[in-house]
Amino acid sequence: MSRTPRLFVISGPSGAGKGTLVAVVRNQRPGLGLTVSATTRSPRPGEVDGTSYHFLTESDFADRLARGEFLEWASVHGHRYGTLRSEVDERVAAGRSVILEIDVQGALNVRRVYPDAVLIFIEPPSMEALEQRLRARGTEDESSLALRLSNARHEMELADKYDARVVNDDLDVAAGELSGLLEAFETNGGDSYNGSH
Ligand code: 5GP
Repeated sequence: MSRTPRLFVISGPSGAGKGTLVAVVRNQRPGLGLTVSATTRSPRPGEVDGTSYHFLTESDFADRLARGEFLEWASVHGHRYGTLRSEVDERVAAGRSVILEIDVQGALNVRRVYPDAVLIFIEPPSMEALEQRLRARGTEDESSLALRLSNARHEMELADKYDARVVNDDLDVAAGELSGLLEAFETNGGDSYNGSH
């Protein structure tokens, strides 16, 4: 069956497991591109510049913004994050689908620039589960955790603006759903997908 490459935008609250889900799906489909975002936040232990993010200073970020290098950007949890146009253009030119893992403000901005972008929202099974996951991850202090939880509530309210939603309770089940969704949107514009739009 012929596939049309698509721009997929994946959002969901911090701790919903977007990164893990995307990694599982990309393992099955190595041709699927994933953009590396730029951010002004500091690297967490284990994060690698150029792979996890392009870690920029505030002034680098501002310069690139002024030069029009960003496809979209947003302030999230007190730091700036953005997708560089170069990250998307090269893949699209090569005829590959690409995933942007970005926040809800950025996702809605991408849709304005690329009306055909497919927006997929990853939800935790519950707010309690989300808090447990964030605590277990152990990467945030209490104030950052509280900020992420309050942003999560706000993001969940915008989930119905997305084209599709995946609840990440069991990782394998959610990865199967996500993979099926990507395939459905590439092969027939999502018509065979009967999820909760
Ligand atoms: P974290 O600091 O946990 O890596 O990411 C925090 C939030 O920033 C997540 O919701 C993530 O989706 C969002 N984010 C990461 N990269 C980008 C980006 O390039 N643009 C936008 N708008 N949000 C991003």
